[in-house]
Amino acid sequence: MPNYRLILTAIDLSDEASSVLDRAAGMAAQHSAELHLLHVVEPLSLAYGGDIPMDFSEVQLQLQKQAETALAKYAERLTIPAKRCHLLTGRPDAQIHELSKSLGADLIIVGSHGRKGLALLLGSTANGVLHGASCDVLAVRVGQHKKP
Ligand code: AMP
Repeated sequence: MPNYRLILTAIDLSDEASSVLDRAAGMAAQHSAELHLLHVVEPLSLAYGGDIPMDFSEVQLQLQKQAETALAKYAERLTIPAKRCHLLTGRPDAQIHELSKSLGADLIIVGSHGRKGLALLLGSTANGVLHGASCDVLAVRVGQHKKP
């Protein structure tokens, strides 16, 4: 099997993110691949827009800033350069697909599950990524699904 050349790993900034990222870094080193890191900030309006009549823009901006800081810390730990760190807004699975295509990624790495939030309403991100992917997908088993 040929080596992977460009790996895109998507992290949700939860407690599980480090395990996913460490696995991705290991794969990238093994394949001498370029490693890209992505976090997607989910628009609050997508979850609550119809139900709560309020302006989310200030809160959304705060979320964006917090995510930017957190993402930079993950990247720093593994010395991933800023140009390979991506912060996008939208539905995570859709954004992961879009970026993987535009980068020409040949492997996407996500956690088998994550987190909180919108995924509970819209279904599993890992599942969504797997189904629409135009390249290989690795779901790293994390957290409670790990074997003891
Ligand atoms: P989930 O399906 O939401 O439980 O999450 C599974 C995995 O999808 C996580 O471990 C991450 O790798 C990825 N993921 C989920 N949400 C996001 C997000 N907002 N940004 C980037 N990756 C995400």
